[in-house]
Amino acid sequence: MNNKFDILEVARRLGLNIVRNKALCPIHNDHRPSMTFRNGMYFKCWACSASGDAIDLVRMVRNCSFAEAVDWIEGNSIDRCAYTSVATMPQSKPVNLNRFEYLFDNPIITKEAADFLFNQRGLDKNVISDLRISSNHTHIAIPYFDMDGHTLISIQWRYLGCDPSVPRFVFTKGCQPSIYNLPLLSTLKPDDDLYISEGSSDCWALLSDGHKAIAIPSATSLKSCINKHIDAIARHPSIYIFPDDDLPGEALFMELKRKFPHIVKLCLPTGCKDYSDFYSQTRGR
Ligand SMILES: [Zn+2]
Repeated sequence: MNNKFDILEVARRLGLNIVRNKALCPIHNDHRPSMTFRNGMYFKCWACSASGDAIDLVRMVRNCSFAEAVDWIEGNSIDRCAYTSVATMPQSKPVNLNRFEYLFDNPIITKEAADFLFNQRGLDKNVISDLRISSNHTHIAIPYFDMDGHTLISIQWRYLGCDPSVPRFVFTKGCQPSIYNLPLLSTLKPDDDLYISEGSSDCWALLSDGHKAIAIPSATSLKSCINKHIDAIARHPSIYIFPDDDLPGEALFMELKRKFPHIVKLCLPTGCKDYSDFYSQTRGR
C-alpha cells in the first residue's frame, strides 16, 4: 500500500524544495541537496543514508508513527494547510529561510533531542515549546525570530552526537548571528529584570528558572548583532549577566558594560562553568 503515495508530492507538502529531483535533506543538517528521489516512490539521502518511501519520509521528518504518517499524507491531519504554501513563497531574500519554516511551524522533538533537553538538562518543556525549538536525529534546530515573534532571521544547529570533528554549534550557511529570543524585548515591561546570557543554551536554562532572558550567540558576535537593539535593551533599569568563568565571558561582560553601564555582573558558585551547568546541578532542589 505504501507505493500509492507520490513521494514528490509528499516531500513538497513537507516543505522540501525539489529541484531536478534533488532536495536538501530535512533529516540531517544539510547544506547542499543530498536527497534524491526515484520512480516517484522512493527517496534516499546520500549524506545521512536515510531512505524509504513516502510514509518513511513523513515518519522521519515528523517523528511520528506509521499510522500518523498515513493519516497525515491522506490529509486527515489538522496541520495539513500549514505546508501547502511553503513552495509558493517568494524567494527574494539573500538568505532564504523559508524552506525551514515548516520545521518551526510544527516543531519536532526527536528522542535524541528530548533526551538532551529534558533528561540531561532538565529544561522546562513549555520554554522549549514557546521558543519553537525543533530537531532531527542529530541536531537541535534553534530558530532566531525577529522582535515581531514570527520573522525567522537566523537558524542555529546544536549537534547532539559525540563525533569530536563535528562542531557543537553552527548557523545555517549565510545567516548572520543575532540576539536570541528577541521577541521577549517587545513583550517585556520596562521595569522587568532582564538577563543577558552567552549562548542560546544558557538562555534556555535562565528561562526555565523563570528569568526573562535573551542571549548573545558568543562574545565575538556581540558587535554585529547588538547595535540595532541597544535602545530596547537599555530601557530596562535592571540588566543582569552571569558571565562564563573564562576570558571570552569576561570580554563579553566588559563589552556589554560599555554599552549598558548599569549592567550587573552576577557570579555563579565555584565549580559552575556557566548557567546551564548551574541549572543542571541545582534543579529540583
Ligand atoms: Zn540526510
